[in-house]
Amino acid sequence: MSHVVIDNPHGLDQQLAALDLNAADCQGGGTGRRYIPPHLRNKEASKNGFGSYDHKDGGWGGPQRDAAYNSFGGRSDRSKTAFNDRGAGSRGRYERGGFSAGGSSRWMDDSKDDDWSKPTAPNERVENELFSGGNTGINFEKYDDIPVEATGANCPPHIDSFHDIDMGEIVMGNITLSRYTRPTPVQKHAIPIIKSKRDLMACAQTGSGKTAAFLLPVLSQIYGDGPGDASQAAKGGGQDNGRYGRRKQYPLSLVLAPTRELALQIYDEARKFAYRSRVRPCVVYGGADIGQQIRDLEKGCHLLVATPGRLVDMMERGKIGLDHCNYLVLDEADRMLDMGFEPQIRRIVEQDTMPPRGMRQTMMFSATFPKEIQILARDFLEDYIFLAVGRVGSTSENITQKVVWVEDTDKRSFLLDLLNATGKDSLTLVFVETKKGADALEDFLYHEGYACTSIHGDRSQRDREEALHQFRSGRCPILVATAVAARGLDISNVKHVINFDLPSDIEEYVHRIGRTGRVGNLGLATSFFNDKNSNITKDLLDILVEAKQEVPSWLESLAYEHQHKSSTRGRSKRFSGGFGARDYRQTPGSGNFSSSRGGRGTGGHGGGRSFGGGFGNNFYNNDGYGGNYSHSGSVDWWGN
Ligand code: AMP
Repeated sequence: MSHVVIDNPHGLDQQLAALDLNAADCQGGGTGRRYIPPHLRNKEASKNGFGSYDHKDGGWGGPQRDAAYNSFGGRSDRSKTAFNDRGAGSRGRYERGGFSAGGSSRWMDDSKDDDWSKPTAPNERVENELFSGGNTGINFEKYDDIPVEATGANCPPHIDSFHDIDMGEIVMGNITLSRYTRPTPVQKHAIPIIKSKRDLMACAQTGSGKTAAFLLPVLSQIYGDGPGDASQAAKGGGQDNGRYGRRKQYPLSLVLAPTRELALQIYDEARKFAYRSRVRPCVVYGGADIGQQIRDLEKGCHLLVATPGRLVDMMERGKIGLDHCNYLVLDEADRMLDMGFEPQIRRIVEQDTMPPRGMRQTMMFSATFPKEIQILARDFLEDYIFLAVGRVGSTSENITQKVVWVEDTDKRSFLLDLLNATGKDSLTLVFVETKKGADALEDFLYHEGYACTSIHGDRSQRDREEALHQFRSGRCPILVATAVAARGLDISNVKHVINFDLPSDIEEYVHRIGRTGRVGNLGLATSFFNDKNSNITKDLLDILVEAKQEVPSWLESLAYEHQHKSSTRGRSKRFSGGFGARDYRQTPGSGNFSSSRGGRGTGGHGGGRSFGGGFGNNFYNNDGYGGNYSHSGSVDWWGN
C-alpha cells in the first residue's frame, strides 16, 4: 500500500515520496494493486498519516517573505523613509481633497501653485489600505536568471536598481511602500524604455511584474508634466463641460485589459503608485453597474483602466474623451484579440479623438505574437522597442513539477491526500476541465470540510470577485478554477497548483503551472495523468526534462510508445529557451504584411519559418512568428 503513515514529515517532497506517487505498480500501472481512498482507510491511520506541511522546514519562501517585510520597519517609519515629507501630516490639505489614491472626490488641480511632481500629504488610513497586503516573497536569485532581450533602434540601456533612473519623489516613495527592493527583469528594461518616451512591444506575462513596469514610468512622466490641457478640458474650459469636474473626463493615460479581473488588478496597482499624487485612477469594466462607474468617473479620472467594450459604451455616452490620452497601454493584447475585442480596440484607438501614434506613447504587452498582434503593433506603435522576457517560472526550477498517474475514479480521493499533505492553509489552485466539474468539485471539498471556493465562466462577476478575495485572503485557501477563468489573474503566493484535469495542450499546462512560483517564489505543481492525457505525453516529458524535474518512468515509456506510434507527428510546437516570441522585425523577410483591414491571412508576409503558423484562438499555437522554436537550422537565443 502506497499511502503509508509518515511520522514527522519535513516537507511535501518527502511526503510525496512516501506516497510513492509515481510507482507504476501502485497507480494504475498494471499490478492490480488499487488505490484506496482516504475515507475507506483506517481513520486513525489517516489522522496520523499526513501532518501539515511544515513551512519552516521545507517552506516555499516563507522566510524570504518575512525578511522582505521585516527589512522595511514599522509603518510610521516607512512613511518617513519613503517620502521626503514637506508638511507631512498636514491633514488640512487632505481634507480639502489634496489626496487622490484614497478616492477623494474632487480634482485637485484648482490651486494655482500645484506642482504635480510634489507628493500630497500622507494619509495613514489609505496607506494602510493600499500597502498592507503581503509581499509576494521574492526569490531573486532565481528570478534574475530570466533572460531578457531588447531589440530596436537606439534602445536605452537597462537599469539594475530603481535608483538608476529618476522617477521622482512620489514614485520612489510608493516603490518603497510597496516593498519593491529591486526591479524585476521586465522592469529593468521597460522602465528606461518608457521613460525615454519610446513605444514598446513587450512579451511578458502576468507574474513578471509587468504592471509596475508600465505604471511606474507612465505615472512618473505624468507627475513630471502635470495635467496640461486635460485639466482645462475636464473643467469645461471652452469644451462641452458645463460644470466643474463633471460629465466628460479626459484621462491622460488609458490601460486596456481583456478581463474585469485583470482590469481590477491593474487598477489596484495604479492606486498604490498614485498614492500621494494628484492623479486619480479609475476602472470601468462590463458586467458591473455602469451608473456607479459613471459616478466614480465624475469625481475625476486621470488614469483609466478599462475593458474595451465598457469603454466604448462610456465614450458613446459622452463620459470619456480621449483627446488628451498621451499614454496608451494594451495589456494582454493577444488575449483581447482572442476575445474578439479588435473592433472595439480600433474604435477606441483609431476612430475617435485619441492623439495619433507618434503623438501619444503606446505600450503593448502580449504573451504571444501571432500575426494579428504584429499588425496591431504596426498600426499602433511608432519606432518601437521589442522586449522579450523569458517566461517566469514556466520551465524554471523554482517550480517542482510532479506528474502522478491517477484514474478518474480516484482523483477526488487523491486530491484529499494532497491537500492533507500540503496543509489546509497553503493556497492551492485546482484546475478542472469544465464549469460543471468545478462546481461539483467545490461541493465535494466543502462537504469534506475544506474551506474552498471556485471561479468559472458561469459565476457572476460579484461571485468571481468574492471568490478571488476569499482565496487571496486565505479564508478559502483552495480555489477550484477552470483555465479560462483563471487566466491572467495575479494570484500570488499560490503554493500548489493541482491539475486535477490536465489540459489537452502543453502551452496551457505551462500557463497553469505559472500560477505558482511567481515573481521568483518557489512553488509546486502536481498533475493527475491517465490514459485520457496521452496526447500531451511527449510535450510534458520535454518540459519536465527541460526544467530538470523528476520524470516518472511510466511517462518515459508512454512517450516512447507514443513517438513510435506517431512518427508522422512532427516536432513539438513548443518553443524552447523560455521565450514566447522574438521581434519579428529581426526575421529575414518580415514586415511585409498586407493591410490589416481585409488583409488578414492574405499571406503577404515573410512566409517560411517566421510566419508559417496558424493564428487561431489558442495561445502559442502558432508555429512561428519569430518564436524561439527549435526548428532545424535556426539558432535560438541561447545559441543552440
Ligand atoms: P504582475 O506581473 O504585474 O501581475 O506582478 C506580479 C506581482 O509581483 C504583483 O503582486 C506585484 O505587486 C509584484 N511585483 C511587481 N514588481 C515587483 C518588484 N520589483 N518587487 C517585488 N514584487 C513585485
